[in-house]
Amino acid sequence: KVRIFSGMQPTSGGLHLGNYVGAMLNWVEIQNTILSGDNNQQQQHDILFSIVDLHSLTNKAVTPERLRANTLDVAIEYISCGIDPTKVILFNQSQVSAHAELQWILSCHTAIGRLENMVQYKEKSKKNTSSLVQNTYGLLAYPILMAADILLYKASHVPVGEDQTQHVELTRKIAYAFNSHHKVDFFTLPQIVNCTETKRIMSLTDASTKMSKSDPSENSRINLTDSDKIITNKIMKAATDSTVGVSYDPENRANISNLLSIASAATGAPITDIAHEFKDQYHSKFKEYLAQQLCKKITPIRDQIEYHRANPKQVKEYLQLGSQRANQLAQNNLKEIKDLIGLYY
Ligand code: ATP
Ligand code: MG
Repeated sequence: KVRIFSGMQPTSGGLHLGNYVGAMLNWVEIQNTILSGDNNQQQQHDILFSIVDLHSLTNKAVTPERLRANTLDVAIEYISCGIDPTKVILFNQSQVSAHAELQWILSCHTAIGRLENMVQYKEKSKKNTSSLVQNTYGLLAYPILMAADILLYKASHVPVGEDQTQHVELTRKIAYAFNSHHKVDFFTLPQIVNCTETKRIMSLTDASTKMSKSDPSENSRINLTDSDKIITNKIMKAATDSTVGVSYDPENRANISNLLSIASAATGAPITDIAHEFKDQYHSKFKEYLAQQLCKKITPIRDQIEYHRANPKQVKEYLQLGSQRANQLAQNNLKEIKDLIGLYY
């Protein structure tokens, strides 16, 4: 049985272009491929897309009011990008308490050194205090909670952006450690599904770090809720370099190469074609083109978001229904796990 799990944090309301290109496009494609199959095939699959609000607690910049509002907003954004909540299980993580319970169980199978080795942990824990991501136990344990998210549903496939590959690999190691310790073949080792052309989209202000919800600079990212004017402004301000013309060279021209990746994601055209077209042009000329293409891509999504924001009742109902269905699956599996490891009831 194929079971798909993935999630995004409601750290900020707006998902950004990195979330969209790195993960969401992939989610919609997987969903539609499965849904276009026959009934039999559809029944063989469970697709779970979560808004992982517990993970967002690692970021102190998120106030309780914002967290609540962002959670609904992210659900709206999923749906506006093409996720069909009648066909997939759409829910927010904290509504299924089994995630936190399983996290504890799995933490007893996870060596601390492995956690300290995670790139995300290293990057986020050294971040300056202004980003408000503090070096807490929660930040260190983040990948165990993520492992619990995935293993709770015995997910076989996890479509995430390239930056999360290491965490899914750790999930496999934790699953393996649990299975070996209990001499069972209980957890499926989940597979990562990266978009074939998934690129890590980098920050617009500094292409040496990835585009991120937790970056304090708004100019570093394009949000799906940004107006055409804001998108254009951010692109025109984006960092480039002092070399004349446009060329794709991620090693030496990280900023301009990032803009080319974004242009390719927005238009579907290969990077090399776009680079060729603008090779002798001013950076500003290329940026104008890029801004136009991005606005074209994002406008219909933003319109959908605005529509659902004005009528959130149905989205709230979808979330409630989703939590019920997720809880059913989760409780069954958690009960098996508790049985297996000897928790008395
Ligand atoms: P935070 O900075 O708080 O970690 P984030 O921007 O990384 O937020 P997440 O909710 O952690 O967003 O990630 C959601 C999904 O988006 C994951 O699958 C992740 O791999 C993907 N993703 C995040 N940032 C990028 C990026 N810059 N490029 C491509 N994929 C990305
Ligand atoms: Mg992240």
